[in-house]
Amino acid sequence: MKIAVLSGDGIGPEVMEEATKVLSRVGEVYGHDFAFQEALIGGAAYDRYGEHFPKSTKEICENCDAILFGSVGGPVSEQRNEKWKNCEREALLGLRKYFDFSINLRPVKVYESLKSDCVLRSDIVEKGIDILCVRELSQDVYFGDHQIFGNSPCRTAKDLMIYDEPTIENIAHAAFRAAEKRRKKVTSVDKANVLDCSKLWREVVERVAKEYPEVSFEHMLVDNCSMQVLRRPFDFDVLLMPNMFGDIISDEVSVFAGSLGMLPSASLNSRGFGMYEPSGGSAPDIAGLEIANPIGMILSAALMLKYSFGLGKEHDAVVKAVSQALEEGYRTKDIAGPHTFVSTTVMGDSICKFIN
Ligand code: NAD
Repeated sequence: MKIAVLSGDGIGPEVMEEATKVLSRVGEVYGHDFAFQEALIGGAAYDRYGEHFPKSTKEICENCDAILFGSVGGPVSEQRNEKWKNCEREALLGLRKYFDFSINLRPVKVYESLKSDCVLRSDIVEKGIDILCVRELSQDVYFGDHQIFGNSPCRTAKDLMIYDEPTIENIAHAAFRAAEKRRKKVTSVDKANVLDCSKLWREVVERVAKEYPEVSFEHMLVDNCSMQVLRRPFDFDVLLMPNMFGDIISDEVSVFAGSLGMLPSASLNSRGFGMYEPSGGSAPDIAGLEIANPIGMILSAALMLKYSFGLGKEHDAVVKAVSQALEEGYRTKDIAGPHTFVSTTVMGDSICKFIN
């Protein structure tokens, strides 16, 4: 299995090192051969090639079976610097566009041993939080025409929201298929009381839902959903969301996990090719300090095992190892609270120890 390794900038290389270490351990224990092919992306690519997503990186990705992506971008205060200007847009959105990644999966789970760190009330957390955010990535208001027109100080701006039926159908199937393997419930999020895009979304999702009679299904308006996920997160299983609502709600629920550094994600295209990355950015504020949490990157690698290689047992072994390391008290700084913490490397090593 050939894996393109795009470590990128900031903490990217630090957390990637731990993810490949864990994959090698999985290979050893379960008898798989993972070949890692490194390629430059983001500011690291700019230093060498003068661009954020160079041709050589595209070629390596095309020749691999899956992509592992760390993070890109520099400090927010240096965004005007040529090296960082448009870095995330060209590298990350470039990859999404180039490979047509239209399905984004982001599981959010509160680990037993981190329950006390959750921002929600303990009686709510006790009921269990395990949500899969399924977000459409290729359409919506981000990809329609954008324009600012007229003369200052009376200018007007517009952004066109756009959705077509095949795209909605594709993401709806992804959500229902995932729900079949989980707690069999889909909540589809929209704003159908106002938007025509949402009315079409509802119609198509209802049509797709009929093909999955085992899965219970509800519509929820996005404003109500943003409130209900805080009041009763335990009632949600799969959240099916258009691009913009998914962008916002998935960040909202990500807070439950205790740290951005805990969260994995998978982006897939309709051919099943996937890119796997932690939900956070390049965290320049902590880069090089050996305190980054590698769990999001490691769990992203686990998602790769499941979705790109069909290795469900190996995926579960990594998730279990993460859970065991946390239960044993291993914590990186972001999830340690007032307690002592271990380095990025020690966290990776401890997770490897529990894969057996
Ligand atoms: P960020 O996600 O990098 O950091 C936000 C906060 O979360 C910081 O305090 C950081 O230290 C913390 N954090 C993030 N990941 C962590 C981890 N694994 N362990 C411990 N703490 C972690 O967001 P930002 O500071 O707004 O952006 C920094 C750069 O990252 C920008 O250049 C931005 O464009 C880029 N960015 C990249 C991606 C990506 O590559 N997918 C995503 C978001 C932002």
